Amino acid sequence: MPQSADKVLDHFELFHQPEYQALLKNKKECFENAYPDIKVKEVVEWTKTWEYREKNFAREALTVNPAKACQPLGAVFAAAGFEGSLSYVHGSQGCVAYFRSHLARHFKEPISSVSDSMTEDAAVFGGLNNIVEGLANSYKMYKPKMIAMSTTCMAEVIGDDLHAFIAGAKEKGSVPADFPVASCHTPSFVGSHITGYDAQVKGVLQAFWEGKTRTEGSSSINIVGGFDGYAVGNIRELKRMMAEMGVEATFLADVSDVFDTPTDGTYRMYDGGTKLDDVAAALNAKATLSLQHYSTIKTLEYAESKGQVTQAFNHPVGVGATDEFLMAVSKLTGKAIPDSLTKERGRLVDAIADSVAHLHGKKFAIFGDPDLCMGLTRFLMELGAEPVHVLATNGNKDWEAATNELLASSPYGAGGKAWPGKDLWHMRSLLFTEPVDFLIGSTYGKYLERDTGTPLIRIGFPIFDRHHHHRYPVWGYQGSLNVLVKILDKVFDVMDASTNITGVTDISYDIIR
Ligand code: SF4
Repeated sequence: MPQSADKVLDHFELFHQPEYQALLKNKKECFENAYPDIKVKEVVEWTKTWEYREKNFAREALTVNPAKACQPLGAVFAAAGFEGSLSYVHGSQGCVAYFRSHLARHFKEPISSVSDSMTEDAAVFGGLNNIVEGLANSYKMYKPKMIAMSTTCMAEVIGDDLHAFIAGAKEKGSVPADFPVASCHTPSFVGSHITGYDAQVKGVLQAFWEGKTRTEGSSSINIVGGFDGYAVGNIRELKRMMAEMGVEATFLADVSDVFDTPTDGTYRMYDGGTKLDDVAAALNAKATLSLQHYSTIKTLEYAESKGQVTQAFNHPVGVGATDEFLMAVSKLTGKAIPDSLTKERGRLVDAIADSVAHLHGKKFAIFGDPDLCMGLTRFLMELGAEPVHVLATNGNKDWEAATNELLASSPYGAGGKAWPGKDLWHMRSLLFTEPVDFLIGSTYGKYLERDTGTPLIRIGFPIFDRHHHHRYPVWGYQGSLNVLVKILDKVFDVMDASTNITGVTDISYDIIR
């Protein structure tokens, strides 16, 4: 065997050894009942045509590679953003293993969340006993300051009532009567991780605000980021910008520390997060601002119902979007935008001016969460680039109308179209039939890059195959600069790769770009 204790090969080499090649060939010939290669090639070519695209877009009962995750994953994300908060998922254990691993692979951090492991008996008789035992165990073993509960499909299909079950568990003494247990129902057969995020943040606010009366007069504002793969970098950047302005702000669901704990010999199950006293006090804030509208609709409705001013943005990337956000903060708080931020704005404009010639007229496809797609669309048009396909599997009709309106607001968006509810197999058809120069999206776009030859710029969630992107902001003037550099790096990589044949194309293989 090629593999031994003295000679350990990783998979890059191991599976190319003759033994494994023979094994794989044998498996294909004897067990896979595969079609002849020539037939496979013929069908692959057909899937690149307009005829196939029309069939693909007519499908109703099947989703292939959706660019979204399920609701409780977003709820687990949000739960982690509060001080001493333990995410508790009422439902199946396997689902929670998926949420933890999905988030851990992106943030490269251990992600804590417990499950009460419903099995067949709970599916028949209901999950009350699981919650009674699960809350008691969680409280004793992990010593949280709050438990934030969500549900998987299994609990939702049988109709478990979290509110009643938590009250029952408190009566039985699982946790003290005054211990905060926030909850939200997160049925995954509707919505996505962004609606799960929304439900959990609202659930936490309700746990602290319900039955309380708001006091007017505060100039403080609340800021909620929405489900965001760049939360570590973005929240820190927003905090810095608010500090520059002298604005008193409470960041709700602040995951910036717990998703970026140091290696110093101490394991931190809980780290940072919005202080629970601050969550309670956030009721009295003047306003709640959201950086991502589609991720926080119910949260903002709830804040508004309590008498707060609310305003939402769409993943503010770029000069115009950052201007709008800062001007809104300034108007609400009466704090001026300081020279330091005005200078950052000027530096971003300068960087754009330096590079715009390489971006002008380039065509892009974008996929991801609804707000991310809108933020990037707006920034690309600001750069003179042309967003052509804008696809959000978890986008709805409202998002479609808003995105098409955004595209229509610039001549660079004239050839663009929003695709709500479509998946990455739809995107494949779009890229083959109406090709673009670049694709922007998550790691899952690498299969589209391989299939269609469209270079992928990794921006979004999840990013599994590149490290540490989440530490760098993509919001604000500084964050926009990071996005600009990411896009330009790929543009120049492609330029180099297409001009590097000695004596053939290298007349343009330049040192200076
Ligand atoms: S879709 Fe439902 S069953 Fe699947 S991981 Fe999400 S909660 Fe679990």
